[in-house]
Amino acid sequence: MKYISTRGGMTPQGFSDILLEGLAPDGGLAVPEIIPVVSREQLESWRALPYHALAAEVLSLFVSDIDRPTLEQLTRKAYSTEVFQSEDIVPLRPLYDGMSLLGLSEGPTLAFKDMAMQFLGQVFPYVLNKRGATLNILGATSGDTGSAAEYAMRGKDNVSVFMLSPDGRMSAFQRAQMYSLQDPNIHNVAVKGNFDQAQDIVKALASDLAFKAKWHLGAVNSINWGRIAAQVVYYFHGWLRATTTADQQVSFAVPSGNFGNILAGHIARKMGLPIRRLILATNENNVLEEFFRTGIYRPRDADHTFVTSSPSMDISRASNFERFVFDLVGRDAERVSALWRELGEKGYFDLSAYQSEFESKYGFLAGASSHESRLATIRSVMDRTGVLIDPHTADGVKVAAQYVEPGIPMLVLETALPAKFSEVIEEALGYPAPVPLGLEDLESLPQRVTVLPCEVDAVRAYITEHARV
Ligand SMILES: *Cc1c(COP(=O)(O)O)cnc(C)c1O
Repeated sequence: MKYISTRGGMTPQGFSDILLEGLAPDGGLAVPEIIPVVSREQLESWRALPYHALAAEVLSLFVSDIDRPTLEQLTRKAYSTEVFQSEDIVPLRPLYDGMSLLGLSEGPTLAFKDMAMQFLGQVFPYVLNKRGATLNILGATSGDTGSAAEYAMRGKDNVSVFMLSPDGRMSAFQRAQMYSLQDPNIHNVAVKGNFDQAQDIVKALASDLAFKAKWHLGAVNSINWGRIAAQVVYYFHGWLRATTTADQQVSFAVPSGNFGNILAGHIARKMGLPIRRLILATNENNVLEEFFRTGIYRPRDADHTFVTSSPSMDISRASNFERFVFDLVGRDAERVSALWRELGEKGYFDLSAYQSEFESKYGFLAGASSHESRLATIRSVMDRTGVLIDPHTADGVKVAAQYVEPGIPMLVLETALPAKFSEVIEEALGYPAPVPLGLEDLESLPQRVTVLPCEVDAVRAYITEHARV
């Protein structure tokens, strides 16, 4: 299995090579040269597998440069009941009207980012070790990604993490989750600025090629193909748990921001998994919903990105969207390059000529939610089932409900647990979300964080002093 760039300017490379890189050298994103196809018989033969074994099966189709026994070891460690709270790793719980919740938030940081990051936490050290290399992961976070990366990489002896967060702007729970880590290879840096400014520092340092090479800087952001591949697995798992025979279809509803989660669903569908619909749910930041409604992609700048009560979806430039567009235009890399040039010049591009294919060929439908509908959905799911869902999952349920079809299970991806966003739960229900077992004292643990001015040079100096060499 080799990988190419969506913009056509990369010689084909193996999984381990693209795993450690960010963007392709031509500014595009790495995609598999050929999408592997899974037969109905093969699919049927996976029905009884535990999650880690299914992960090894699915990932082996994308990873040809790591031998099979090793891959099995890596997935067994990544998806164990020591790390995940559920015996099934990803539980499936019925709601009502044919809808169920696919529980992707049973990992250490209570959000779906753990599903991919726990795999990276195994495969990064393995690949680095084989190459005699080390890596300093640099990133910026407004919450879920940073904590998932830190919990996945903590204690690894050839990886360090430098995670910038906006000082004083995350929830108390999110701060406690990250800053209470005492592992010497985890560096929490709070900068005196907002998330976008923190992100700008990361971009400045990552584009300083001499600095990047000298300190072996790497990233685990949402364009990382290893994350997408690991996410494909739970679409298979969800389908296997929701059906009994290989001719049954299911639909998935996906709370979306950077288009990473639902892109994995798109890949699973192309692999032959019987997925009927992929329902994309956005919050008030509805750039993607607008695209699937009109065919026009018009990202917004930071000033026009709303702060909402499902904050992990407050994204207006969906970094993985290019991979879907690559397929949409018939895998024509020149066309993709031209579209992104046009985007840079005009601020939008128009693919309405393909609009009839969004649903008929790719199964995509979309909808958006609002603060009011989010709160109302949290209340009605609680009233009807006694299940407490988080605000992002509520956006998924709200949009899914519009598209439920008789006889087709609708699996809503649960992208976080409510404890992470207790303020919103309190607003919806009048009482806070219960704190999960074992995390009762989290907010009173000692915290380890370095506060720096929001300046490139301050962060550069900090990395120079603390990076692994
Ligand atoms: C990251 C995140 C999302 C959005 O996922 P994408 O892959 O960026 O589309 C949704 N909900 C939660 C809770 C998240 O952390």
